[in-house]
Amino acid sequence: MEKEIQSNFIHNIIDRDLEEGVYGDKVTTRFPPEPNGYLHIGHAKSICLNFGTAKKYKGKCNLRYDDTNPVKEDIEYVNSIEEDVTWLGFKWDDRFWASDYFDKMYEAAVELIKKGKAYVCFLNADEIRGHRGTLKEPGKNSPYRDRAIEDNLSDFESMKAGKFSDGEVVLRAKIDMSSPNINMRDPIIYRVAHTHHHNTGDKWCIYPMYDFAHPIEDAIEGITHSICTLEFEDHRPLYEWVINEVGFWPNPPKQIEFARLNITNTVMSKRILKSLVDNGSVESWDDPRMPTIAGLRRRGYTPKSIRQFCDDIGVAKANSTVDVAQLEACVRDDLKDKVEARNVVMNPIKVIITNYPENQVEMCEVENNRNVPEMGNREIPFSRELWIDGDDFMEVPVKKYFRLFPGNEVRLKGAYFITCNETIKDEAGNIQELHCTYDPKTRSGSGFSERKVKGTIHFVEASTAIKIKIREYDYLMVKNENDEYIENPNSLNETWGYAEPLVGEAKPLERFQFFRKGYYVLDEKLSNCDEKVFNSIVGLKSSWKK
Ligand code: ATP
Ligand code: MG
Repeated sequence: MEKEIQSNFIHNIIDRDLEEGVYGDKVTTRFPPEPNGYLHIGHAKSICLNFGTAKKYKGKCNLRYDDTNPVKEDIEYVNSIEEDVTWLGFKWDDRFWASDYFDKMYEAAVELIKKGKAYVCFLNADEIRGHRGTLKEPGKNSPYRDRAIEDNLSDFESMKAGKFSDGEVVLRAKIDMSSPNINMRDPIIYRVAHTHHHNTGDKWCIYPMYDFAHPIEDAIEGITHSICTLEFEDHRPLYEWVINEVGFWPNPPKQIEFARLNITNTVMSKRILKSLVDNGSVESWDDPRMPTIAGLRRRGYTPKSIRQFCDDIGVAKANSTVDVAQLEACVRDDLKDKVEARNVVMNPIKVIITNYPENQVEMCEVENNRNVPEMGNREIPFSRELWIDGDDFMEVPVKKYFRLFPGNEVRLKGAYFITCNETIKDEAGNIQELHCTYDPKTRSGSGFSERKVKGTIHFVEASTAIKIKIREYDYLMVKNENDEYIENPNSLNETWGYAEPLVGEAKPLERFQFFRKGYYVLDEKLSNCDEKVFNSIVGLKSSWKK
């Protein structure tokens, strides 16, 4: 059983609110994605935090599509978001669309106008920018700031009725053009956009801005703690202003910011991830190199490993970048006692056991998982013709090389000791096969102890071997000589190998340790009845130190 999520500063705030009864005994959070892309591991952090917090306090967490921006939202994205949240192991209490609140948002804007707290402004975007001032200088009032309430009401009505074109006019909150916080200098709260909306169709040609819409969405849903990322910290006064001025709810939500997740060697923005898909740098949103939840799933990550990672990195108030090795360590940790081993050799070299009978196959027992005896053994075939891994033979061994080389004896895991007697080459000098002899007395499990060997290697019996495709991955982004991240041109390396017969029965998304190699998962999309394709999940060794 997984432990409850680690306590963090947000939970301290909630504990205090519960003590003071600010929201009674209620804790309600929400996860508010914009359905304009696939979720990435940064979203996983927000998902774990929002859903995990609701779970910890026996509260609720809503899934809310923040679809106030009538960009091309895609049903594909909506489906992927639900699949990913569910796969991560969470269940939303309610599912809402922010666009369902457009009427209420419009009414709220009208109320603000009636209170003299909002006005229609005909300055264009450049002029508004010019009036905004800087961090050092106050802004200048818009010439439209002090017009009569009735004029604002009728102009806003006209905005809604479609009498203006995009960018011609906006509705602005009337706050303070000399505020030290630029977000409070009469921010735009409604804009004209003659754009079809996936949910509301052509009903609206004006759309609320995020800073106006979000607090209203939270308040309508009775969110108690609205958790968002740090870049919204400066927007909090505006969030609170909207809540106070619109104010038709008794216990307004509280915005709390935390540091967004950044990870080395990757990018964490839907916009950039989308461009990688669109320009063909990766194959799709679920390309196993992508930091998307869908990509990580296809890469073989487990939901538990991602939850563990999100919990381990904690929730902080200061931005930082997490080493990708920490994420890799989490999946390795989760897999090491769970998945079975299989023998697979790459860059294979043929071995002929010259003193073993032809046309004979015997079965050898090997353990499924070295760490977990309860996972039992499996049988692998052994015969006169075998494949070994290219890395396990050196014609001229380097120092401390204990694997196979001419004249040396090694143990074949689960089978016999073999000695390499001869290296057979073709005319071009390429190794064709190794002629070896085996010692029948040394069969694994026989208790043989007359002599020891230093190297143990694995093998695949040749007549029953299955050829598989293997995809090894490097990071999407690597640093150049100026320490800047650039796209890695070699992030995908396709190779192939021979596998023991059981690998032929692997099911989609089934994970294995390829013995002495690393962890691999069967790719569902690329595998077919003729060919099995495996993705490398992570290597066996960690560079990450806790
Ligand atoms: P992106 O820039 O990748 O599009 P976003 O913040 O615009 O991200 P949304 O769909 O608006 O994406 O995000 C939904 C929720 O996920 C928000 O509450 C947001 O703060 C959170 N979130 C997004 N990226 C991260 C991240 N890297 N770390 C933590 N939380 C994140
Ligand atoms: Mg966004």
